Amino acid sequence: MGEQAAARPRKAAESVGATPSGPAAAKKAPVKKAAAAKAPAKKAAAAPAPATRPPAKKPKPKPESHLAMVRRARKINRELAEVYPYAHPELDFENPFQLLVATVLSAQTTDLRVNQTTPALFDAYPTPEDMAAAVPEELEEIIRPTGFFRAKARSLLGLSTALRDNFGGEVPGRIEDLVTLPGVGRKTANVVLGNYFGVPGITVDTHFGRLVRRWKWTDEEDPVKVEAVVAEIFPKSEWTMLSHRVVFHGRRICHSRKPACGACPIAPLCPSYGEGETDPEKAEKLLKYEKGGYPGQRLKPPQSYLDAGGKSAPPMGAAPAGK
Ligand code: SF4
Repeated sequence: MGEQAAARPRKAAESVGATPSGPAAAKKAPVKKAAAAKAPAKKAAAAPAPATRPPAKKPKPKPESHLAMVRRARKINRELAEVYPYAHPELDFENPFQLLVATVLSAQTTDLRVNQTTPALFDAYPTPEDMAAAVPEELEEIIRPTGFFRAKARSLLGLSTALRDNFGGEVPGRIEDLVTLPGVGRKTANVVLGNYFGVPGITVDTHFGRLVRRWKWTDEEDPVKVEAVVAEIFPKSEWTMLSHRVVFHGRRICHSRKPACGACPIAPLCPSYGEGETDPEKAEKLLKYEKGGYPGQRLKPPQSYLDAGGKSAPPMGAAPAGK
C-alpha cells in the first residue's frame, strides 16, 4: 500500500479541495497580483478588445463540511488499518505495572530507549512493593538512560508507594484512580487502560496531535480538547487502535520536520500533502522502522509485526538500530 501511494498525491490534494488553499497555491497567488498591479491603467484601456472571451474564473471550492471531514477521517483510519495491520503499543511490557512504569519513563525519550532500559529495571524491582522500597540513587542509576532520571525516579517511587498503600499493590483499571498516581496524566492513563484493560482510549501524544491537525480534523493544540474532538468522530471501539495507527504513521512516514509525502499512502486524503518531500524516490529514503527496512522499537514485538517483516530492536549497547 505504502509503495503505491507515491503515484497518487496530485489527485489527492484535489479530492479534498486542498490545492487552492495549500502551500503551493498560497505561494503562487501574490505573483499574479503583482503582475496585475504593474499593468498601467491607461494602456489597458487602449488595448484592443480581445477576440475571445477570457476563460471563466474557476469557482472557489467550498470549505469542507463537517460531515465530509468525518467521512474523510474515517477513510484515513481504514487506510491506516491496511497500512499498519500490526499497529501496537511500542513499549515492551508483560503486566500493567510494567506498562505503567514504561509509559512514565517514555516522556521526552524514545520507546526504544525505554525498552532497552526496562529489562534491568524490572529484574531489580518486579513489583510495586519492590520499587517502593528502592534506594532512590540506585533506581536513578538504572533509569538514567531515559533522561530526566531524577524526576522520573521520584514519579516511580511515588506511584509504586501509592499502588502499594492505596490499591493493594495492583494497578487500578479506572481513569479516575490512575490519574491520582504521581507522574500519571490522562495520556499515560489511557495507554494503560487501552492496552491492558481493554478500555477504549485515545492517546494524544505529539505525533497524534500533529497528524490530526495536518489532516484538519481539528485546529486544537490542547491534547484534552483534541481527544474530545476525535472521540466525536470515531466510535469507541476504534479509539485504541486508531491511536496506534496514527502514532505509527507519525513515526514512520508523516514526520514532524520532513514528512515523506511522496511515499505516503494516505496522500489522496490529506489536505497537507506537499508539506514534506513529494519526490517519491527522495521520500522513500525518509521512511523509518519497518517501512524503511530498519528494526522497530520493541525488543519483543508482537508476532504480527515479525510476520509482516518487522525486526526486533537491539538490546542496550548493541549496534544502533538504524532509525
Ligand atoms: S506525509 Fe503527512 S502531510 Fe504528507 S501527505 Fe502523508 S499524511 Fe499528509
